[in-house]
Amino acid sequence: MIAVRDLVHRYGDRAALDGLSLTVADGEFVVLAGPNGSGKTTLVRHFNGLLDPDEGRVEVDGRPVDEHPVAARTSVGMVFQDPRDCFVAATVGADVAFGPENLGLDLAEVDRRVGEALAAVNMAGRGDERIDELSGGEQARVAIAGALAMEPDHLVLDEPLAGLDWPARRATLDRLAALHAGGTGTVVVTHDLRDVIDRTDRLVVLREGRVALDAAPAEVDGDRLAGLGVRPPRGTGRDAA
Ligand code: ADP
Ligand code: MG
Repeated sequence: MIAVRDLVHRYGDRAALDGLSLTVADGEFVVLAGPNGSGKTTLVRHFNGLLDPDEGRVEVDGRPVDEHPVAARTSVGMVFQDPRDCFVAATVGADVAFGPENLGLDLAEVDRRVGEALAAVNMAGRGDERIDELSGGEQARVAIAGALAMEPDHLVLDEPLAGLDWPARRATLDRLAALHAGGTGTVVVTHDLRDVIDRTDRLVVLREGRVALDAAPAEVDGDRLAGLGVRPPRGTGRDAA
């Protein structure tokens, strides 16, 4: 479980998170939305200790992240907005193996994890391919496999769909849905709810560093979302794509 209480994070003297509280249960699929600058990236970077709170607490499985960063990083797998920024190797298999290798696991275990992670994102058997020769959608899936190979309890993806075309977007969402069905808790950060909203029971919207909405999508109407600075998923936007 990820538990955030009264979290304040400042850049300089400006609070990007301003007393935010949120709990994400194990196995839960949460869509975290909000306009640009609302604090989404700042928030999720606290989940595994990439940022520390100025005030308040962030706990993973009951342990404060700033005191137990290794435990948090093992429990929470993070996939960043631009996958190119987080690839560390030239080939698919070497990149996905990097995290498990750094856990000090033996070769057979690393191979097992790499195989399962690639299969989970529909990239089985493609470990020898060069990452820079893959499509954007395939690169996004390799980045997800890299996080999965750590066998996290929670997978947190910061704008995983940005820059993907529609088939790649749907393929990635299908993989995430399958992972969630298999028990992985999933937090998808996005400012664009199209296609995502139908796949979640819980929509959290940030605004100015606080939780402005936390509800089942079926309970939320488009006007409410628009008022929070989030483009509603239905209507002209979806049709336009
Ligand atoms: P989101 O991911 O929702 O777009 P961010 O968490 O990136 O929001 O940003 C929240 C606020 O914090 C914004 O006003 C942004 O300009 C500011 N901010 C984010 N990162 C930095 C940084 N490294 N230095 C200074 N200000 C930052
Ligand atoms: Mg962001």
